This record gives sequence, C-alpha cells and structure tokens, in this order.
Amino acid sequence: MITTDVLIIGAGAAGLMCAATAGYRGKSVVVVDMGKKPARKVLISGGGRCNFTNENATPENYLCQNPHFAKSALSRYSAQDFIDLVDRHGLNYHHKTLGQLFCDDSAQDLVDILMTECEWAGVEINLRSEVLSVTPLQDEKTSGYIVKTHDKSYQCQSLVVASGGLTMPKLGASPIGYKIAEQFDLNVLDTVAALVPFTLHDHDKQRFDGLSGISLLTEVTSENGVMFKENILFTHRGLSGPAILQISSFWRAGQAVTINLLPEHKLNEVLINWQSEQGQKSVKNLLATLLPKRFVDVLVKDGVIADKPIKQLNHHDISALSEYLHAWQIKPNGTEGYRTAEVTLGGVDTDELSSKTFESKKQTGLFFIGEVIDVTGWLGGYNFQFCWASGYACGQAV
Ligand code: FAD
Repeated sequence: MITTDVLIIGAGAAGLMCAATAGYRGKSVVVVDMGKKPARKVLISGGGRCNFTNENATPENYLCQNPHFAKSALSRYSAQDFIDLVDRHGLNYHHKTLGQLFCDDSAQDLVDILMTECEWAGVEINLRSEVLSVTPLQDEKTSGYIVKTHDKSYQCQSLVVASGGLTMPKLGASPIGYKIAEQFDLNVLDTVAALVPFTLHDHDKQRFDGLSGISLLTEVTSENGVMFKENILFTHRGLSGPAILQISSFWRAGQAVTINLLPEHKLNEVLINWQSEQGQKSVKNLLATLLPKRFVDVLVKDGVIADKPIKQLNHHDISALSEYLHAWQIKPNGTEGYRTAEVTLGGVDTDELSSKTFESKKQTGLFFIGEVIDVTGWLGGYNFQFCWASGYACGQAV
C-alpha cells in the first residue's frame, strides 16, 4: 500500500496543475493516469499548438447550470497568472484572434512546463495506471480513501478526480469520474458532446456535396439567441469551423441554426447598387464576388438565386434574396458526437461542490476539477483556463 496526502486521478491539464500546486505546499502527491503519456489532450489541442488560455476569459464564457460557480476560481487564477507561469519558463507563444494564445512551436513545450512544475513540486506521476476502484476508509478515526489500480493500492487523505469528460475515447476518455460521483451519491447532470461539428440530413448532404473545404465568415445564431461571428466550414460530413463548434454547445436535437452568410454587408443595398451600376450582369456572377462560387451554384440550382441579369429583380426579389442570405436556416441532423467533440457538456453537478475548493459538500476529502464537472467553456482557450483555475484552487485546498 502506497500512502500519500493527495491522490489525483488524471494527468491532464487540471490534474497536473492541481498536483504542482499541492506539491509546492508540501503535500505528498501522486497522480495516476491510464495513458502512456501525460496530458495527451494538451498535446493534440489547437492543432498541436494548444490554445492554452484566453486573455479575455470571464465567467460569461462558460456554460454551467450555476452561472456563478466558476467566478471564484477564475478570479483567483486568471489567464494572466497562467501567462506569467509560461513566461517564467520562457515558452514561445503568440496571440491569434479573439484573445487566444497558442504555442509557437508545439504543445509539447507546454506539457514540458507542466511536467517540470510537477517535478519541482516533488509530485510522483504513475502512467499506465488505470483506476479500478475507490473505497472510503471505514475507520472512524482516519478519513481518506483507498484507490486501486490494476497493480497498486494507494491510501490518501484527499482524492482529486480530474479524469476529464467523454470526448475522444481513443485518448483514454472514461466515465470513471461520473461513476465515483454517483458512488458517493453526488448528482451527475446528463452529458452531451459539445464544440462539435454538425452532421446534415441526407438531402442537405446531397445539396452540399462538392462544397467540402469551403470556409466563410458568418454570424451563426442558435434558437435561444446566442450568436457567434466566426467562420463556418463545409466538410464531407456536414458543417464545422469555429462558428459551428461554438454554436453546437447551445444547440439541441431538432433545433435549427440561423446563419448570416454576409455579416459584413447589407445585401439589399448592395443589390440595389448593382442594379444601377452593373444592371446587365447576372445575379449569380455578382454574388460570386461576395460568396464562394461553388456555394452560389448550389443556390442557383435550388432556385434561390435567379440565373438572370440583376436589373430584372423586383423589390420583392431583392428583399427575399437578402433575407434568405442574411438568415439562412439549417436544421442539423445531429453532431459527430464524442468521437470528434472537444468537450463534454454536463457532468458532476456544481451544486454538489464548493466553488472555492472544489470539494464535495457531502463527502469530505473528495474533490472534482476540470472537464469532469458541469463547467464547459467556449472554443478559444477557455476550457484550459478553467482547468488551470480549478486545478489551482483545489491544489490550494487539499
Ligand atoms: P483530460 O485532459 O481529459 O485528462 C483526464 C485524464 O484522466 C486523461 O489523461 C485520462 O487518461 C485519465 N483517466 C480517465 N479515466 C481514468 C482511469 N480510470 N484511470 C486513470 N486515468 C484515467 N481546450 C482549450 O482550452 N484549448 C484548445 O486548444 C483545445 N483544443 C482541443 C482539441 C481537441 C481535439 C479536444 C478533444 C479538446 C480540446 N480542448 C481545448 C478541450 C481540452 O482539451 C479539455 O477541456 C481539457 O483537456 C480537459 O482537461 P482535464 O484535465 O479536465 O481532462
């Protein structure tokens, strides 16, 4: 039996941050992870360059049944705190759009920083160690837990569950965190894949066959009125791109999304100008100066864009076309699911946890941090920022 103050399940972003923080406080810390490598999601994130934080992160960038829950942790460990940490290690990084920070070279540089921090803090990390069971200590004088992996048993005072969500099963996603919560009678909210591409119904798939690879700036709005202005991307399965990933977190089965295909223009004014200045030109050729030609061809085939000179459009045609392209409606068939999703919506109910320490209100010494809990960030570095913040808050408390 290995005895330690703190045992952390999961060597991901949240678990490693918590481990280093607790280690620096003088706690003995062991992290167990069933993977061959630590922080595998950090390694593949941001196209291999990891969008590790967002300078503009606020609690409003997170979905959670309790919108106030993330406030405390995010304010006690801000994006600037994490930037200061990577600066101390000399990480080369750059600003992209919308406050997003990415490694210049490789996400491995960031994993190296986390591992160095853990080493300096005296943390032991045991890989290829799948947690099979958790048992509370029965002895009334000693609180704590026995955690069994396939080859070892650990006894700890504080047990931190940082086992992540259900996305990317190939990278070791497992429901163990939810199972541990349920074992101790904590409520777990239904989970669903989020930040995920949409799939389309067969008739739409056929219409858009051949558009794969086309990307355009849009404003995408969900039925509950949330809007993102970013690119959409046609894929061979459906729709993706940052605007679609963002809105997928707010979309529910059966709902439509509304896409403004020309957010930078007032199309009715543009069409009227074209009528007076270039009246002989065809509507489709003129629109192909604002939208990808292949997409315009689909709309011509659908009968939305008339294949005739623009001067032949009447007022009604102009407003109907403007309305269509400014509020294009698409009803997705579904999403690509956990296989390609970036995050899991739902999870351990935050009502069960302290927002200061992430400890269970019911079960002393049991903590949940990172993606396993019902806090889901927007696309853009917000999810890692919550991992750093919840890991830090918990590491201060264990
Ligand atoms: P995880 O990173 O999932 O770590 C959990 C760990 O627990 C895993 O290593 C797993 O092996 C281990 N584990 C699970 N079950 C067991 C068990 N039974 N025994 C032992 N170990 C176990 N977010 C951003 O902010 N920026 C990005 O650029 C970004 N890009 C992304 C790209 C992709 C393709 C994906 C899938 C996600 C991306 N995300 C991004 C989201 C981000 O990766 C996650 O929110 C974050 O990794 C969650 O960290 P975590 O520590 O909570 O859990």
